Amino acid sequence: MLVKGQIPTKEPKVLIGLVLPEDQQKRVTIKKSDSKIDHKILVQHDTLLLDGNPLSRIHFNQSTADSYFIIHPIQAGRGFHWEKHITIQVLGSIDISIKDGSLFVINQIPLEQYLMCVATSEMSGGCPPALLESQTIAARSWLLAADEQKHAHLGLDACNDDCCQRYQGMGNLTETAKKASQATRGEIIMHHHAICDTRYSKSCGGVSESNDYVWKESGKPYLRAVHDNPNPTLPDLQTNEKFQEWYSQDSDCFCSPQTVPEHKLHQYLGHVDKTGSYFRWNVTFNQNELIKLISNKTNNPFDSIQSIKPLKRGLSGRIIQLEIKGHLNGIESIILLDSEYEIRRVLHPHFMFSSAFFMKKSLDTHSNIDEISFYGSGWGHGAGLCQIGALGMALNNYSTKEILNHYFKSTELEKIYD
Ligand SMILES: [Zn+2]
Ligand SMILES: [Zn+2]
Repeated sequence: MLVKGQIPTKEPKVLIGLVLPEDQQKRVTIKKSDSKIDHKILVQHDTLLLDGNPLSRIHFNQSTADSYFIIHPIQAGRGFHWEKHITIQVLGSIDISIKDGSLFVINQIPLEQYLMCVATSEMSGGCPPALLESQTIAARSWLLAADEQKHAHLGLDACNDDCCQRYQGMGNLTETAKKASQATRGEIIMHHHAICDTRYSKSCGGVSESNDYVWKESGKPYLRAVHDNPNPTLPDLQTNEKFQEWYSQDSDCFCSPQTVPEHKLHQYLGHVDKTGSYFRWNVTFNQNELIKLISNKTNNPFDSIQSIKPLKRGLSGRIIQLEIKGHLNGIESIILLDSEYEIRRVLHPHFMFSSAFFMKKSLDTHSNIDEISFYGSGWGHGAGLCQIGALGMALNNYSTKEILNHYFKSTELEKIYD
């Protein structure tokens, strides 16, 4: 595993989880590209079976440098609105074991081969080179900074999904994407001689978020809120009134449809992403839908929902503390949601695009919400690089360096290995 604070001097191999114990997956099929055999791997009564034969562990190596593995099914978008099962093609080696009664599949792969696939899983291989290069450098720095290591207990550097960074194998690779990764080989973003923990998300919505508002961690000097616009002045979005006023005004951002038209987004997004409106969006629920949603997501059987009130907003307008008031078994009750993640999880059957929203509601005769509409901006946590904004910059001929310096202030680009 990668170690936080260590700067590699040669290309490392990384450990990526393809099937996690939490997926509770019991079967997977693996085929080598140069073989006709479909290996069927099963977990049956806590025993690992390879084509019917019990084994404690299964290991596959690439047979030649050009060969790869075809693996099915692999989860993409765990828990998000775009969740699906996909087939992936990967290089490196595959290690399969049982963990907590389910399959645990790890792909060990040289970092640069992994990154090539990340760039074209996160965004399409048809994006301009400056976007793919910026995306690759950010993905490399994030992994090598090893600051989050969300799956360290499993001995993994990252999983294959949005929870860490999207890795859907070689299926979407293009020559431009290969060139973008080769052109930036070994390049990372540094701040004060340390590798930057370069977070990114799909669309900031106009202003990116400071990391300490998104996660319960200290503020990082290079993860500050940035106005995603050539004019660097940050609008004040920390009150409901100011956020609502700004919402319909700031329309010429790098991530807005004015720069990247929404009907063209499908050319540029990852192939599992649905196209739609991400810069500005809205969703409406009635009282019954709200009761069902909030009761299910919070495990509190509400009889009615009376109010939903933002208590605190970050610099991008993302709500980071929200109060829900209603009746639980006839008694007036209040619950507090205290992160942008929790707010997005609770207020949508799948996952709300972002917590940067204001609400318009009507009340019924019992002072409950009759209907409520959420008007939001952006997609994702909003900290660090805005992927659609970086695309907008690349389409307007900004260089890789300019893009990275726009989102990650006071940082340097450095090559740490050849
Ligand atoms: Zn993960
Ligand atoms: Zn943006």
